[in-house]
Amino acid sequence: MASKNVGLFGPPGAGKGTQAARLRELLNVPHISTGDMFRENLKNGTDLGKKAQEYMNKGGLVPDEVTIAMVRERLTRDDVKGGFLLDGFPRNVPQAEALDKMLAEIGHPLDHVINISIPDDEVKARLARRATIEGRADDAMPATVQYRLDTYKMQSESCLIYYRPKGLVRDIDGLGTIDEVFTRIVRVFI
Ligand code: ADP
Repeated sequence: MASKNVGLFGPPGAGKGTQAARLRELLNVPHISTGDMFRENLKNGTDLGKKAQEYMNKGGLVPDEVTIAMVRERLTRDDVKGGFLLDGFPRNVPQAEALDKMLAEIGHPLDHVINISIPDDEVKARLARRATIEGRADDAMPATVQYRLDTYKMQSESCLIYYRPKGLVRDIDGLGTIDEVFTRIVRVFI
């Protein structure tokens, strides 16, 4: 299992975080979630958290310069040398281009882009359920959920168009149990 620089794609609620938690065990690489990093900064009241807050509350993207700088700093740490699992980044083409440059500097490009798909109705049902369990503000309001979905379709799906010609994208059906989806993902690495 040599190829370990992995990007995880999928609309909100596709199960990226859940699957990433398992995949990190399998690959033994750090899970780098930009959403988690922003939430952590928000909780700790950092300047970065303050900058991100209004965008996150509306369900839009935090400005690229903020996000790219945060990821760049994260990818300079030693623990990514054996690979990493990127979740929620890149989310638009400028971020994808910036990532390519960063990885060219490290000398190791992305090996796989795992694209987890679920239908819009399932997104809405899952996020409504998650709102009652995890209490994430951006899950609770239907208008915010819709805006996140629209943002995903308008911006993040174009990243897939960027990666497809490079032969990196592996499409995964995100419907089914957590185990079933994980089994599909594991096949990418066999
Ligand atoms: P989702 O469940 O919508 O996939 P995430 O936990 O990945 O949620 O992200 C939550 C929020 O954090 C996003 O709606 C966005 O405001 C911000 N965010 C996360 N990753 C990025 C990114 N790569 N670029 C800009 N904003 C981001």
